[in-house]
Amino acid sequence: MRFCSLASGSKGNAYLVDDAGELILIDCGIGPRTLKTQMALAGVAIDDITAVLITHEHSDHVAGLAAFQRFAPDVPVFMNFSTADAVCALYPDVCDEMIVAFENDSRFPVGDLKVRAIETSHDVSDPVGYFVEGPGGSYFHITDTGEPTVEMEEYFDMADVATLESNHDLAMLRSSGRPYHVVRRIEGPCGHLSNDQAADFVASCAVPRLKHLALAHLSQDCNSPHLALETVAKGLACAGCGQTKLTAFSQHRVSDWIYA
Ligand SMILES: [Zn+2]
Ligand SMILES: [Zn+2]
Repeated sequence: MRFCSLASGSKGNAYLVDDAGELILIDCGIGPRTLKTQMALAGVAIDDITAVLITHEHSDHVAGLAAFQRFAPDVPVFMNFSTADAVCALYPDVCDEMIVAFENDSRFPVGDLKVRAIETSHDVSDPVGYFVEGPGGSYFHITDTGEPTVEMEEYFDMADVATLESNHDLAMLRSSGRPYHVVRRIEGPCGHLSNDQAADFVASCAVPRLKHLALAHLSQDCNSPHLALETVAKGLACAGCGQTKLTAFSQHRVSDWIYA
């Protein structure tokens, strides 16, 4: 099993998970041209995608979906029922024939992989992340959560590799000059996970099984890769996981593939 980021942040999100002959796209918040370019840089093509998983209906996760479907009309697009309702209402161009809706507490197959939604805390209808299990390993994927949830705690220690949001540095956010309500939304329980929150989560939940952790959805104004990595590395050390490799994903740069 391997995974990578094609785009990570508030201007668009798209991630790939590859195992057992399945190539899963998690979120489609970038346009088809960017998707094609980024996938080529990762050594794969849009035609190789076998399934899409959607986390929630915010445009930085869904805006490219309708255009993607014109290139890949037969690819199933998985999302929970509430998110499907919201996506259909907000993006009328999305082809709902290929939507496969699920209940959050179910585990569903994508080929030989097993997928389980993990509830997150975010200001949309029914936001989730994903836990993907295959013959090559297990992958935990969480972005866009204002605080850690019980399900995140439940699944994190079963992952060989993981992506976790580390959105902002709280002091940088508060001195960013953004409007008060925007700052409060981002730092609130249904906003985004700060570096400190990500570090605390990792400190209390990480186990040595975790080989590689990638930090995602970093704010370009209110964070820096250096700061996020330094903060979360302390959390890993606290959990006795000093050997876990740590990477920060970027908005525009395709990451290396990370192997389970
Ligand atoms: Zn987002
Ligand atoms: Zn969001």
